Amino acid sequence: MKYGRPGKKVRTLDKGRRAFLVNGGILIAGAAAGAALARVGMGKLAGYAKRFSILPPGAGNAERFASKCTACQLCTVNCPAKIIVPAPGGDGPVSLDLNRGACLYDCNRCSQVCPTGALRPLALQVKQKTKIAEAKFNPRVCIVFQEGEKCGKCAHVCPTGAVTLRSSGAPRPVNTALCIGCGACQQVCPAPGKAMTVHEIERQILLKK
Ligand code: SF4
Ligand code: SF4
Repeated sequence: MKYGRPGKKVRTLDKGRRAFLVNGGILIAGAAAGAALARVGMGKLAGYAKRFSILPPGAGNAERFASKCTACQLCTVNCPAKIIVPAPGGDGPVSLDLNRGACLYDCNRCSQVCPTGALRPLALQVKQKTKIAEAKFNPRVCIVFQEGEKCGKCAHVCPTGAVTLRSSGAPRPVNTALCIGCGACQQVCPAPGKAMTVHEIERQILLKK
């Protein structure tokens, strides 16, 4: 099986890592969540779906994902960006925390290692066009608009060209037809309070461009 980063092996839960996760409560939580998922009905799944809206690529939508994710944490341990997080208390499916970092453009590992199909196995080119969230620009926080400083970092890191700069150096509003919600712009924005922020969308979409 091929993965997004050639030469990088998929991590399984070896003895040491397993002990680390157990000590940290993650595996116990995952097992408990898996058992819990087996017990609960669709009503509770709907509750999970409400709580976990920004999801790893391939999840589709929250309700579908909640019905298939067993909280095994294979995606969590294999994510090089460390942005996939267990549910609070381990009670339910994993989610993405884009406040911890950005989803790497050249990576599709989580979708490749998921053993249950909760994350569909996306080819890298497909993953790179899969919108998982959406960025919004707030000029009232941007230091170019407010302080007259030079910046433009959001446009420089955006892998899809969704952020472009005016001749003044100030960013234009995000092109939502191109934004995949990777969170790179949010991560790099130096403005206190972040002028670029990523937000949940109802379901993941395959962009045409
Ligand atoms: S595709 Fe994104 S979320 Fe998934 S493993 Fe890679 S960096 Fe992590
Ligand atoms: S606008 Fe931001 S979130 Fe959207 S693709 Fe570009 S860097 Fe990623």
